[in-house]
Amino acid sequence: MKLTNCIECGNLCVENPSKLCNDCIRAEEEAEDKVAEYLRNTDKATLEDIHKATGVKHKVILRMLKRGRIFSDAIISYPCETCGAPINEGRVCASCSSNIVGQVKHEEWKPVKPQESVRKDEKMYTKDIIQRK
Ligand SMILES: [Zn+2]
Ligand SMILES: [Zn+2]
Repeated sequence: MKLTNCIECGNLCVENPSKLCNDCIRAEEEAEDKVAEYLRNTDKATLEDIHKATGVKHKVILRMLKRGRIFSDAIISYPCETCGAPINEGRVCASCSSNIVGQVKHEEWKPVKPQESVRKDEKMYTKDIIQRK
């Protein structure tokens, strides 16, 4: 058996997939019940709504959401990891994910060094013209 620190309270506990100690697992199960109960009576809820109604910490709700522990027809939005805009799927909002794609494309172009190759071509071209004269 391997020991690890609980990611919630920091207490030493036996390693398990949730990375939580027994106390925190129990607390989180209770929190899940509360959240599930709240969502049963709600059409639409944001992370903040759930937090206010149940008192469950944002990060605990997010953890449940990412693990797929809470499901609902209610649209649950949570903050984009980059800019904090409300989203309801993935880890970043649409504009941040397109920004990331844009940056990658931009960096891919850099190593080509187009100026050098253009200059070389120019010289060759000029030489060609001179020789032709
Ligand atoms: Zn704990
Ligand atoms: Zn964003």
